[in-house]
Amino acid sequence: MKYFGAHVSAAGGPENAPLNARKIGATGFALFTKNQRQWAAAPLDPRQAEAFRANCRAGGYPPQSILPHDSYLINLGHPDREGIEKSRAAFYDEMGRCELLGLDRLNFHPGSHLNRISASECLRRIAESINLALDRTRGVTAVIENTAGQGSNLGYAFEQLAEIIDAVEDKSRVGVCIDTCHAFAAGYDLRTQQACDGTFGELDRIVGLRYLRGLHLNDAMKPLGSRVDRHAPMGEGQIGMECFRYIARDPRFDGMPIILETPDEERWPEEIARLKAFAEGRE
Ligand SMILES: [Zn+2]
Ligand SMILES: [Zn+2]
Repeated sequence: MKYFGAHVSAAGGPENAPLNARKIGATGFALFTKNQRQWAAAPLDPRQAEAFRANCRAGGYPPQSILPHDSYLINLGHPDREGIEKSRAAFYDEMGRCELLGLDRLNFHPGSHLNRISASECLRRIAESINLALDRTRGVTAVIENTAGQGSNLGYAFEQLAEIIDAVEDKSRVGVCIDTCHAFAAGYDLRTQQACDGTFGELDRIVGLRYLRGLHLNDAMKPLGSRVDRHAPMGEGQIGMECFRYIARDPRFDGMPIILETPDEERWPEEIARLKAFAEGRE
């Protein structure tokens, strides 16, 4: 089973996200469980959590089809004591929200060294942040997203993802999400079937596909290796449609959320329909 969806709005409460996903023909979805641009959030109302679970059941969305994303403010590799403590507290809160919503994974960007500590020190801090969160929560896997490597963001090289996982104590609750635009911007070619074989083969060798817990499907506005994170509509960027056909057809990507973060929301129904057609071999 392939779970195709998009990062839908949770305005008015997370219980609205599965309803929004249904409207665009999605079989999976991503959401923010709180405002992604604010540190603080009121605790989740248990009735809202119950409504979310009920709407997911009604919409046919099991936990493995859903990929919640944490706040953009969190930096689990922050060089300063105050910055890292704030980030760790916010991440723990987000893991708890996922637990309450009955979700089994939380997607996040690993972190940035802000040019104040070394990359390896930053990766070590990120792993320690994950260890602390896993110690205090149950049932939710920490899903590290690869980045484009813009600024001082780490996690652009598969070796960096592997280095973080290596230092996580509970390997059963850590995973990765691969964003196609970020991978391409970081220098991993995805333009042809052969290039996709090469890139996912490398991911398997360095990280292990057993750690894959989701995908973000975005075309890339900027060229291979640009280190610039600009998403383009599916098939209309530098990557091109072949990569999306490849992913939709490949059984290695069954049973996990495959999420569009493409810029034009109006086109999500059409992009999802296209992915379903690829998966069924109709195109
Ligand atoms: Zn992404
Ligand atoms: Zn991005």
